Amino acid sequence: MSDQQAKKRLYIKTYGCQMNVYDSERMADVLAPLGYGLTDTPEGADLVVLNTCHIREKATEKTYSELGRLKALKLAKAAEGGAMTIAVAGCVAQAEGAEIMRRQPAVDFVVGPQSYHQLPELIARTYRALGQRLAAEFAAEEKFDALPVDRAVTGVTAFLTVQEGCDKFCTFCVVPYTRGAEYSRPVEAILAEARGLAAKGVRELTLLGQNVNAYAGAGGLAGLARQLAKISGIDRIRYTTSHPRDMDEALIAAHGELDALMPFLHLPVQSGSDRVLKAMNRGHTSDHYLRLVERIRAARPDIALSGDFIVGFPGETDREFEQTLELVGQVRYAQAFSFKYSPRPGTPASALAGQVPESVKEDRLARLQDLLNEHQTDFNAAQAGRTLPVLFEKIGRRPGQVVGRSPYLQPVHIEGSPSLIGTIAPVEITQATRGSLTGRLAQDAMAVA
Ligand code: SF4
Repeated sequence: MSDQQAKKRLYIKTYGCQMNVYDSERMADVLAPLGYGLTDTPEGADLVVLNTCHIREKATEKTYSELGRLKALKLAKAAEGGAMTIAVAGCVAQAEGAEIMRRQPAVDFVVGPQSYHQLPELIARTYRALGQRLAAEFAAEEKFDALPVDRAVTGVTAFLTVQEGCDKFCTFCVVPYTRGAEYSRPVEAILAEARGLAAKGVRELTLLGQNVNAYAGAGGLAGLARQLAKISGIDRIRYTTSHPRDMDEALIAAHGELDALMPFLHLPVQSGSDRVLKAMNRGHTSDHYLRLVERIRAARPDIALSGDFIVGFPGETDREFEQTLELVGQVRYAQAFSFKYSPRPGTPASALAGQVPESVKEDRLARLQDLLNEHQTDFNAAQAGRTLPVLFEKIGRRPGQVVGRSPYLQPVHIEGSPSLIGTIAPVEITQATRGSLTGRLAQDAMAVA
């Protein structure tokens, strides 16, 4: 974006050495995709960054007197209905960040030299505190934590949004900028909508949210699921997408206790390397994730796990990619979504050094998908010979065929009457492929039918 096209004005005042000059240029680069273009004066600027230096004597006092002048400009802009964000960067920010915030409340945030890639997050959080969105310039992007888009919304199953927004700021993702802060719908509104859906014949609800398990209504997501399960007609509950950091004990326990809560969990991890997870700002390690999986499986041993993966994140080494394969080998997912890293303009990761060549990403993705496919095939094959309760959703592609879902979200095809649609019936699984199961109605169900 050229400075002429930029909608927001950025003024950077640079003190000290050549390194600081270089850093100021990097900051301008990181901020350009957010719509900030450089201006020569602080008057009227939307964002002012003081890039400070500790070397010279009196550097700190100079910073405070400059901040005093900026405060007057900030107040003048506010009086006209505008807003000026003031940030202090560089060595003084590093050394005295808390003191700066205490002494000059006009400062919105401080950022040390190691954290310039986090400027978009810091600015977005400042805007949120003012009740505003930063994000008009972001192109609409699909989110990384993929929703089950292939899932047909039928009369039998329905999606129900319970939560929106995200406070996690993974460095590769635009959602926190485009969707804003985490927000949970009131319990009563959700229950009323669910009762309405049940009255129309819906038997399975999939609760939706960018961070659905951060649901903050009474009792959290576990409490909400327990209340929804009491609604007559609602027999199955699923939810997506979850974040490992928000998977609390109450929700894990609910998986072991609540029959309506289906044994399927989409729990993205993204990488098996702790260094990459940190660079992604995921807020968890691979060990934390694996221990979490252990606790979930202790509560519900047959649970089917699904995940999301990004290969070729900036700086990812061969060894770090191998760590992802090792994690996959330990978890053995029932299904998964995997992507090559692609830089999203405006996100902190897009400005990171060490972008991985396309051919390397392709190679890693192919190896990861081979392993994930193998595990998915194994998981489905293990259902052969079992009898599973299937909620029938629709007529199949072949004549005389009806299709439903197992508790583990696998599509199940049988030869049967359309009158099965909307019912849950036991099905003996006779065949399995990577993508679906085939079976026949169990004898006791046929006796009833
Ligand atoms: S948790 Fe991370 S990947 Fe998921 S929506 Fe939030 S920022 Fe994006």
